[in-house]
Amino acid sequence: MSTPSFASLTTLRVGGAPSALYECASAASLAETVAKLDRDRVPLLVVGGGSNLLVADGELDLAAVLVRNEGISLDDDLRLRAQAGTEWDAVVAYAVEHGLGGIEALSGIPGSAGATPVQNVGAYGAEIADVLTRVRLYNRETGADEWVDASSLDLAYRYSNLKFTSRAVVLEIELQLAETDVSIPLRHLGGERVPLAEARESVLATRRAKGMVLDAADHDTWSAGSFFTNPVVPSALADAIEAQVGEERMPRFPAGDGQEKLSAAWLIERAGCPRGFPGEGAPARLSTKHTLALTNRGSATAADIAALARRVQDQVRDAFGVELHPEPVWVGL
Ligand SMILES: Cc1cc2nc3c(=O)[nH]c(=O)nc-3n(C[C@H](O)[C@H](O)[C@H](O)COP(=O)(O)OP(=O)(O)OC[C@H]3O[C@@H](n4cnc5c(N)ncnc54)[C@H](O)[C@@H]3O)c2cc1C
Repeated sequence: MSTPSFASLTTLRVGGAPSALYECASAASLAETVAKLDRDRVPLLVVGGGSNLLVADGELDLAAVLVRNEGISLDDDLRLRAQAGTEWDAVVAYAVEHGLGGIEALSGIPGSAGATPVQNVGAYGAEIADVLTRVRLYNRETGADEWVDASSLDLAYRYSNLKFTSRAVVLEIELQLAETDVSIPLRHLGGERVPLAEARESVLATRRAKGMVLDAADHDTWSAGSFFTNPVVPSALADAIEAQVGEERMPRFPAGDGQEKLSAAWLIERAGCPRGFPGEGAPARLSTKHTLALTNRGSATAADIAALARRVQDQVRDAFGVELHPEPVWVGL
């Protein structure tokens, strides 16, 4: 049997062939596999659901280590533990079914439980940092298999010290949930709190409308989700952009220290890249449902996705002097 390519391991469905593939169905085999490859100095990439990865085309000198250890448990203090390879949305469904609140707003985010701390996933007013208490890590520098406090991960907006560093592998996560009838305040409902199951359905429906729930039949979901983080800029630059565009209200949010967070999608559209950009026929395009998602229309390569990303970055930089930073992890590009 031939080794599957990264195109079959990632939601952007691009990327070449790994040098080898290791499927790890337990935390122990995951730690042991990574330890052995590290000892043998074999370059490797840990892959969960592949939903935040842009991997280069061609034959790659990179082994793929697939995180496939699954399982959910709950203790009397409502601490939920999930093995890293458990599908994240199955964790959310489990919590909601058990009347446990805290993660319902994170319904429908693709990928694995173990990847949620890596970029501190977030949506609709919640992020994993709100409930994450500990993670079990295999530390690639020391070889230790240990539970560490969430506070040691430097969790911030779409960031942790695990992202881009590959310093450790998440084997399990632990969340503190709470018994409740109602959801957290949901941003897309203007801060309203609704019954848990309703919150989950509402988030899923809103995400589906934006192509943010995976659907093999819908090319708008052949993506890595939002491709750029929302930029943080000095307030003076935000003022200048608002004056330049001349619209009544530009989305801008205080970010401390005279800085403000702007909407990457808003800037991209005003810089001349509307939904579907650059248009019919292009193998890689902005989603027709969500400006911030770069999508593979069926025949795109990693090079096509990267070229589109650079084109969007260039247009936003030229128009507004703002640098957009990719949210997914780029490998070999
Ligand atoms: C349609 C769509 C919608 C999305 N919506 C959102 C959203 O609303 N909010 C949001 O925050 N993100 C969103 N994303 C991005 C993505 O789903 C999340 O970042 C998710 O947590 C990635 O999980 P994964 O298992 O697919 O990670 P992968 O893509 O497999 O890996 C991502 C990175 O994490 C590393 N990694 C993976 N597993 C582990 C592990 N066990 N230990 C250590 N490192 C690991 C990988 O090496 C890689 O560097 C979306 C993506 C898509 C395709």
